[in-house]
Amino acid sequence: MIIGGFQKFSLIDYPGKICAIVFTQGCNFRCPYCHNPELIDPNVSQNSQNITSEDDVFSFLEKRKGKLDAVEITGGEPTLQQGLLEFLKKIKDMGYLAKLDSNGSRPEVIEKIIRLKIVDYLAMDVKAPLEKYQEITCSNINPNKIKKSIELVMNSGLDYEFRTTVIKSQLSEEDIIKIGKLIKGANLYVLQKFIPSKTLNPKFLSEASYSDEEFKYLKAAVESYVVRCLVR
Ligand code: SF4
Repeated sequence: MIIGGFQKFSLIDYPGKICAIVFTQGCNFRCPYCHNPELIDPNVSQNSQNITSEDDVFSFLEKRKGKLDAVEITGGEPTLQQGLLEFLKKIKDMGYLAKLDSNGSRPEVIEKIIRLKIVDYLAMDVKAPLEKYQEITCSNINPNKIKKSIELVMNSGLDYEFRTTVIKSQLSEEDIIKIGKLIKGANLYVLQKFIPSKTLNPKFLSEASYSDEEFKYLKAAVESYVVRCLVR
């Protein structure tokens, strides 16, 4: 895998667990609001200072056994990585819980990961209603792939969450309701506030999320479709 970043400690990224975070390099979407734009380009030199080797990650994890509970793999988009399955298997063999964050664009990889039982928690972005997917992600994604990934995640038997970063100019209340219908029956749906600190498209630095009051209405509008809805 090409690892573009490594965070040794987090209390907030794996629910109820202490985890380390591996950031993979490269993404097939170009969400203008992306807050990790340095991780989008897959063609980063292996010698770049930002790149961490798998050996470094595993030797750190070896030393932290008993102190860390879990490892989160995020991106970029991890399912684009050639060695992802082996990487996850190794994490599991070391006794850690594994969490995978994905944009859902590669259901064939998600299916394998579920079948091999090499992940404990799946977090999938649902970026928009299907008909707006290409516009919101600035990509040519086939929305049927997103639909397929949603079905796989919901039927996986694993802990999971779907989440949407909500930018006022991009997603209306009606759009959020459409997403609710798309993931109807899901255990957990998280509406994420957009915090404009760093973005792929600098114009999005001046974009706004909804207000706290408006988020209450969005949550109320969508929570009847899912088991639990949170604003984060
Ligand atoms: S926000 Fe979009 S562009 Fe950025 S890493 Fe996630 S899926 Fe890729």
